[in-house]
Amino acid sequence: MEARRFALSKEASSKEAPGKQDVSTSDFRLDGKVAVVTGAGSGIGQAIAIKFASHGASIRVVDVNAPAAAATCQRIATSGGDASAHPYLCDVTDQAQVKTVFADLFQRERVHILVNNAGVSHIGTVESTTEEDFERLFRVNVKGFYNCMHVVVPHMRTSGGGVILNMASIAGSTGLADRFAYSMSKGATIAMTYSVARDGLAHNIRCNCISPARVHSPFVDDYLKKTYPGREEEMFQELSKAQPVGRMAEPEEVASLALFLCSDEASFITGADYPLDGGFFNLRG
Ligand code: NAD
Repeated sequence: MEARRFALSKEASSKEAPGKQDVSTSDFRLDGKVAVVTGAGSGIGQAIAIKFASHGASIRVVDVNAPAAAATCQRIATSGGDASAHPYLCDVTDQAQVKTVFADLFQRERVHILVNNAGVSHIGTVESTTEEDFERLFRVNVKGFYNCMHVVVPHMRTSGGGVILNMASIAGSTGLADRFAYSMSKGATIAMTYSVARDGLAHNIRCNCISPARVHSPFVDDYLKKTYPGREEEMFQELSKAQPVGRMAEPEEVASLALFLCSDEASFITGADYPLDGGFFNLRG
């Protein structure tokens, strides 16, 4: 109780200090932890990186887009936190690159948290999906997640444990129209999560995933621009209505659940797929 009161009073005083308002002193702290966030150059990954940094974690941004990764680190650096942030240029589909980047990291420091988030989308049915698109979705959304877990699990196993969080989607466990390859990849994400969580039990490695419904990120804006040129606003409203709450999630809302799941407060939670769906699964009646 005393600690909580202290935290609250620190929080109040941090609000008064200009430039320090992003530094949280509430629960779900990640002080002393190093978190690798893939795809943190944009959208959900960027929001997670910023949220984790504001709660004390040192962030390693892994992204195929170097300027975007650097921009996320810059935002963290100027937000007033003490946590360090470094960009790593890496295409997660390439196992050799992933091995090199993580080997460099492991040589410098212990990695406590991996957020597998880098992903791509695709629209199409089983009929319209080309082999090339199917393989692209598999390479980024499935093999990319496997590549990062493949190198991080032995490190976590020999360094006392860790937490892995995979970004899945409601598409992984329900039938969405026109999402054949994407659903395939997110179903695999959920299955990989359960498998890694099961094998991680003996090694203090927790592994969970989050399944968001539509989140308003550049991912969605790009999709609207490409698929509905000139009708972006109309379709934005249409997509918002797909969630019973009547809107899309904000990346920061995904980041809040990610923070909880990667914090010590969630130490009893492993092998779980968390919907973040604005009522999509249960409230569409
Ligand atoms: P985004 O397009 O805004 O960001 C994706 C990031 O991943 C980018 O910075 C990109 O450069 C990076 N990336 C892509 N391919 C990569 C590769 N091969 N190697 C390294 N980095 C790579 O997307 P977002 O909306 O923030 O989505 C992030 C994750 O959340 C994805 O896995 C996506 O499937 C999932 N998701 C998104 C939504 C949504 O509605 N936006 C809903 C459910 C799940």
